[in-house]
Amino acid sequence: MKITLSNGTVVPVEMHKIRIVQKINLVPAQERLAALTEAGYNTFLLRTKHIFLDMLTDSGTNAMSDNQLAAMMIADDAYAGSESFYRLEETVKEVLGFNYSIPVHQGRAAEHLLAKVFVKPGDNVLMNYHFTTTKAHFEIAGGHVHELFTDEAMNTESQHPFRGNLDLEKFKACIKKFGADKIPFVRMEATTNLVGGQPFSMSNLREVKKLAAKHGIPLVFDGSLISENAYFMKTRDPSCAKLSIAEIVKEMMKLTDILYLSARKSACVRGGLMATNSKEYYDRILAWLPLYEGFSTYGGMSVKELEAMTVGLREMTEFDVACSSPELIEYFVTRLVAEGLPAVTPAGGLAGHLDAKRFLPHIPQAQYPAGALTTAIFLTSGIRSMERGTISMDRDAQGNDVLADLELARLAVPRRAYTMSHIEYAVDRLGWLYKHRDLVGGLKFIEEPKVLRFFFGKLQPLGNWGAKLVKAFEKDFGKTC
Ligand SMILES: *Cc1c(COP(=O)(O)O)cnc(C)c1O
Repeated sequence: MKITLSNGTVVPVEMHKIRIVQKINLVPAQERLAALTEAGYNTFLLRTKHIFLDMLTDSGTNAMSDNQLAAMMIADDAYAGSESFYRLEETVKEVLGFNYSIPVHQGRAAEHLLAKVFVKPGDNVLMNYHFTTTKAHFEIAGGHVHELFTDEAMNTESQHPFRGNLDLEKFKACIKKFGADKIPFVRMEATTNLVGGQPFSMSNLREVKKLAAKHGIPLVFDGSLISENAYFMKTRDPSCAKLSIAEIVKEMMKLTDILYLSARKSACVRGGLMATNSKEYYDRILAWLPLYEGFSTYGGMSVKELEAMTVGLREMTEFDVACSSPELIEYFVTRLVAEGLPAVTPAGGLAGHLDAKRFLPHIPQAQYPAGALTTAIFLTSGIRSMERGTISMDRDAQGNDVLADLELARLAVPRRAYTMSHIEYAVDRLGWLYKHRDLVGGLKFIEEPKVLRFFFGKLQPLGNWGAKLVKAFEKDFGKTC
């Protein structure tokens, strides 16, 4: 909840207390340099013992509630017919309004099944923006992914409240060009992850649904960050202001033919879900479920997590839960902007983002500025962030780099895990790095997988700049942190 202090400053105040904690370490910069070198300048390959604040992702890193943990104790272990599943099914009906629930082990498993069932070679899959695993799954199935984002989406200094909107004119043009029968579905991603967690508006979702329905195209909703999108609708769109988060979520689901989500995000557990009211879609997806995930009453999840998901789906529709991450992110972004750093605005749903093209204008995109920035951030702070730029794009068929629309260093804010003092530390060290940005250089690949290279690829700094940066850091902060 936002509270205005007597001096006029607005601060996020947590509507929970912390009852279980985990020790974290802040190791000296030289140790960080050794760890990063070992990890091939890829933050995915670091070990958590070298990491102070783990802002790589909000996937599976959120703090669970006491009620979620308690629910895990009553889980009903059974290969088939588990009561835990039936409790989930009832909750999905009540909270999301869908009769058919399909548990899957995480978000990308749902994408795999969608690709398997709906995407044929030559099909065109339309979406407001892609997510890495989404795009890979649909392309492996032979589909072409088209991102119908608005001009505002790529403006990282925007004040537009809904940069995740889908451009309806582009949608119409695609229907005309490809024909509705070559479009298996249109996908709306709630708070577009790779655009900086930016939401779409309720009116945009309504218009997308109207146009899709007119042409018999199903609307698939990626609800991994559904509660954050609902929070932004409530706080940024006057027509939604009087609705509760629960009502907004229900309203969005009325416009949805197939929901899928990674429960590792908004729902704060390690699992995933697909849901629909169409018996036909349900049957087609269910046919593949036991082969890839598991029987229909657990879908590759542990029944303990299934129980926690049931509670998590309910809790994510409470305002005090939905606001927890976006308000801390807003505080983070406001502080970064106040310090003159090129943070992406407006603040989004899962992370604070730095625009690496503006942070490191001297590094050409072919030398991966966003990747360089994430590694420089780690060296100067022990904070692990994620590259969301050209490294996150795979090469084209000719082997050329595909330059990303945006070069972002994403600093995820896992729900209920970090506090304002952590954010203040981050702002301070990022500010130091900005002042010393000329010391940071580019990267080149030394080991490069073909698909999703950002996970396991190894890189090298061009001109040993990592060691130079650490030297400058030690001059100002000493050898201990
Ligand atoms: C995280 C995420 C996924 C993938 O989910 P996993 O559980 O990590 O497999 C898909 N879509 C969006 C929008 C996400 O943020």
